[in-house]
This record gives sequence, structure tokens and C-alpha cells, in this order.
Amino acid sequence: MGSSIKLFSIWDIDIRVHITFPLILLWAAFQFGTITGNLSGALFGVVAISLLFVLVTLHELGHSYAALRYGVPVKQIVLSPIGGVAQLASIPDKPLQEFVIAIAGPLVNVVIAVLMGAVVVLFGLPVTNPMAVLTGLSVGGFTLLALFSYVFVYNIFLAAFNLIPAFPLDGGRVFRALLAMRLNYVTATNIASAVGRAFAVALGIYAFFTGGIFLVLIAVFVYMAAGQEAAYVRMRSVLRGYTVQQIYSAEVHRIPPSYTIQQAFNLMAFTGQSALPVTFDEQLVGIVTRPGLLAAMRQFPPYATVDEVMLANVRPVDLTTDLYDVQQRMAEEQAEALPVTGNGRFMGLISARQVNELLRWLRATPQPTPHVQGT
Ligand SMILES: [Zn+2]
Repeated sequence: MGSSIKLFSIWDIDIRVHITFPLILLWAAFQFGTITGNLSGALFGVVAISLLFVLVTLHELGHSYAALRYGVPVKQIVLSPIGGVAQLASIPDKPLQEFVIAIAGPLVNVVIAVLMGAVVVLFGLPVTNPMAVLTGLSVGGFTLLALFSYVFVYNIFLAAFNLIPAFPLDGGRVFRALLAMRLNYVTATNIASAVGRAFAVALGIYAFFTGGIFLVLIAVFVYMAAGQEAAYVRMRSVLRGYTVQQIYSAEVHRIPPSYTIQQAFNLMAFTGQSALPVTFDEQLVGIVTRPGLLAAMRQFPPYATVDEVMLANVRPVDLTTDLYDVQQRMAEEQAEALPVTGNGRFMGLISARQVNELLRWLRATPQPTPHVQGT
């Protein structure tokens, strides 16, 4: 993550800013400064935009909270000049889960809007539209009320904009989830993606002629992301109907629990095997992964045994498990390999490399009858 800087972390999720982020603050200082014609306007711009990114972060934490509740890891939240993104380890293909995760972000803004609205009503604040705020700034300078009005209005805009049904914006994800409750997942994604790209083109044209540079960037982003995610879903869907037993490796190096971590390291380094299953009496008792082993090497002496450092309660996949589900699990758990069992006995390993290799083959081959089913 050389292109972003960590600010802090919450729920073990790193909140990071992209290195281009200061540009938006500079832009805000310049833009607000020229509109109002004074330094106080420039300061207002920087504070207001910073607060907007607090709203964006809360919005992304809304998505993250829902994702974590479903057991989907969140890698990080990255803030960039055009907004924020919570990077989930994978997008759940269960429509209800995607629906809840997608709606959770805008819901945070709705709650904030209600709270701020209550303050407006209770204190009878004269909230005005953002343009009036700017005109006020050039006369009266930076006031807290102007800042409140600006954040109040922008927060509502944030909720409304994200709920536009343009995949992969939140509203588009809600739309796909609703479609996927009736149609198969690939068809639902294709429809949502087409609508998303049509929206992006319309937004792009509108923004181009009205001079909204950030909206143009957002339109380009939505257009590309909609296409990419649909392509990814189509690509993955070809795995349906293939099972673990078709590609797993039965001939794998396995180690006993009494092996030292130095021995495990040597074996992994010289065989290139992405994980070492630990077996005892033909039974799988754990697995040593590459990242796990490297972490253990730093923490434990080389003569420590693998039973101290292995992942003991790893869920194996069955010989008959669908590769589509295996790929989803590997993405969610960021696993390089999973142990394979059949009739309760250890059978071997299946690696992310093998799944990707199969994907490459399937994509290179024309698919007369795609292996697609509803989810
Ligand atoms: Zn969102």
C-alpha cells in the first residue's frame, strides 16, 4: 500500500488516505478562497471538506460493520479525492447480505441527517443552501452556522447520491441484490452493470458540460468499475459445476505435529508448496500457511514445533465441493490453499494457484453451455 498513508485503525481496519488526498484540501482552499475572495473562505473550505471526509469515513464504517457481521473481512478503508472505499475481502453473492452491506453506508448518513435535522429544529437554526452559505462567507466570513449548514446539506447529498441505482454505487448494489433474489446472479449483475454504465455516461456528459471535474472523475470511475465487476462475476461463474476432486493435489507434502518450524520452513521453501497440512494418524489436525509460518519464524525459536503455530481449526473442503464456493472462500479468507478431505479422511490440498490456472483455461476455451445457475 505504498500509495496510501495510514491514519488510524478501528475494529482492526486501517483507515488510510491516498497520497493524492491533500490535493482535495488544496482545491478546497483555492476554490472557496476565490469564490469568497478572502482567507477565511479558504479556511472554511479546508475545514468543510475535512468534515465531509469524516462523514465519508463514517459511511464506509457503516458498510464495514455490516460486512464484519457477516464474517466478511474488511482489508482497509481508503479515502481519495473522489470519495472513500471500504475494501471487502470479497463481495458476498448472497443477495440479502449484499443488500444489508450496501444499504448500511447510506443509512449512516440518514441517521446523521436526522440527528442534525433535530438540532436544526430544536435550536431553530436558519439553514440555507450551500450556495447561500458561500455568498454569506464573502460578507460575514467563517461562521460555525455556515459550516453546519454546509455539512448538513452535503450529508443529505451523500446519502442521496449513493442511493442512485447505478452499480457499483450503493444503490446499484441494492438493485443487483434485489434482482438476484429473482434472477441468477450473473444475469442480475449484467443488468445492474449495464444500468450503471448508462448512468455513468449520462452523468459524465452532464458533468462535462457543466464543468464539474469531480463528477467527471466519478462518472469515469463508475463506468469502469461497473464493467470490471461484471466481468469478474462472469469469469468466476464458469467455475460452477466443477468440483474440488477435478483439480486438487493428492500428492502433497504433509508434516507431523512434532515437526519444527525450521523444518517446515525448509520444506515449504524448497517445494514451493503454498501450505503444509499437519496430519496425525491420517487425520488432518491443522495447516501451516506461508504468512503464518513467516510470522511464527519471527516470534518463536526455530526449534518450536508446528503444533504451536499451526492453524488448528481450519475448515477443510470436501472432494465434492463446488469450485465456485472454494474460490469465494479463498477470497474471503485470503487463503492460498485449503485442505481437502473425503469421507472424513485427509486427501490433499487445493491451492488458489490451481483454481486460477483452471480459470485461465476456461476463459481461453469457448463455453457453449456456460456453467451458470441461480444462487
Ligand atoms: Zn457506500
